[in-house]
Amino acid sequence: MTEKPSPRGKLIALSVDGLRPEIYRAAEGRFPNLNEMERSGASAESMETIYPSTTYPAHATIVTGVAPRTHGIYSHLASLDPTERARPWCWFAAVLRAPALWDVARASRRRTAALSWPVSAGAAIDHNIPEIWNPAAPDPHSDFETPARHSTPGLFGEVAKLLAPMLGKADPDQLRGEAALYLWNHYRPDLLLVHFILYDAKAHAFGPASAEALKALESADRAIGKIREATSADPATTLVALSDHGFLPVEKEAAPLVAFAQNGLFARGADGSLSLRRLGAVNAGGSMAVYWLEPPSTDDRRRLEAAVGELQAAGVVQEVIDREKLETLQADPDAELMIEAAPGFTFSERMEGPLVSNSAQDRGAHGYLPSRTGMEATFSIVGCDIAAGKNLGRISIQQIAPTLAKIMGLPADILASEAKPLDLR
Ligand SMILES: [Zn+2]
Repeated sequence: MTEKPSPRGKLIALSVDGLRPEIYRAAEGRFPNLNEMERSGASAESMETIYPSTTYPAHATIVTGVAPRTHGIYSHLASLDPTERARPWCWFAAVLRAPALWDVARASRRRTAALSWPVSAGAAIDHNIPEIWNPAAPDPHSDFETPARHSTPGLFGEVAKLLAPMLGKADPDQLRGEAALYLWNHYRPDLLLVHFILYDAKAHAFGPASAEALKALESADRAIGKIREATSADPATTLVALSDHGFLPVEKEAAPLVAFAQNGLFARGADGSLSLRRLGAVNAGGSMAVYWLEPPSTDDRRRLEAAVGELQAAGVVQEVIDREKLETLQADPDAELMIEAAPGFTFSERMEGPLVSNSAQDRGAHGYLPSRTGMEATFSIVGCDIAAGKNLGRISIQQIAPTLAKIMGLPADILASEAKPLDLR
């Protein structure tokens, strides 16, 4: 603890997608910056995320302080049609029904910047390169035209020029780290939000504690270290490292849509292709939400019940989350129900073939209930007047927005959050 924080404190929040605290705590020497942030600041034993424990709803909660039911981002997808090939995601901040930190900052005439932050396209952010792609592009993640078009005019080109010498040599998080430093030094925002993505990608593909995922985390840790080094001399700046959800290893894949299709819940064309009838679905990996797009008949209801019964009999469902429990979880108000995958299982969007496959394409998944061991997220914070080495215990992801608003000296009452700011002293 040193001097008092500035009433106009500046803040950088670095989100390492999918990072469960156990992952970096277990290998102390390998992630020196994440571990050093715990020693020199306050950190949560674990942070409880929202349901489903996925990137878009969770990042929306981080900046609004409210649960999905209130902010309106219930999943990553903006389309409920599982037969659609290129489904759009919830990229646009206009869908948010609750004020975000950037709105609160703007109301106080403070400057904001964001890099690859989910649900930030079109947001009231002064310097913004949002996470967005063209789902119909042959390789959506090499399509730079779409993020460029939705960025602050001129900014994408400016950053792309800066990063050009690193292309092909640096990984996506190294590029984000360099871009973040540029935004911070060049535009001097009061709030900078950055989303690191590589750990999540590798944890999905190879497993959360795989060599590939840990190597990706080393890269994010180095980027965090560079940003920390660049800001540590400034007592007005607070640095946060956090995540949106945890991860669980999986060995098997189950395809709920196969059971729905076999029970006639989708229409089948003459060529055998499936199309939408009344049942919509959104897969979150660890869970799947189903929706009635039109009022169902008694027969439709019976078919859904039969399909869910088959999935339960196959041992792939841990729990059926009904409307009542979805209310308690403050989750999707439109879903008829959600099914929660059994341990070791991830759900896929496959519509043909067997119900269960023993060779899952992915080795890691999230989207499960936030109460399940493994789904816990990370939170560490370092700055003036923040106790060194303080253990905050188990916190809620809904406490983050009011906490960060308070540190920045922003009117937190503009937020819709009823969560208590964390006591960091
Ligand atoms: Zn995520």
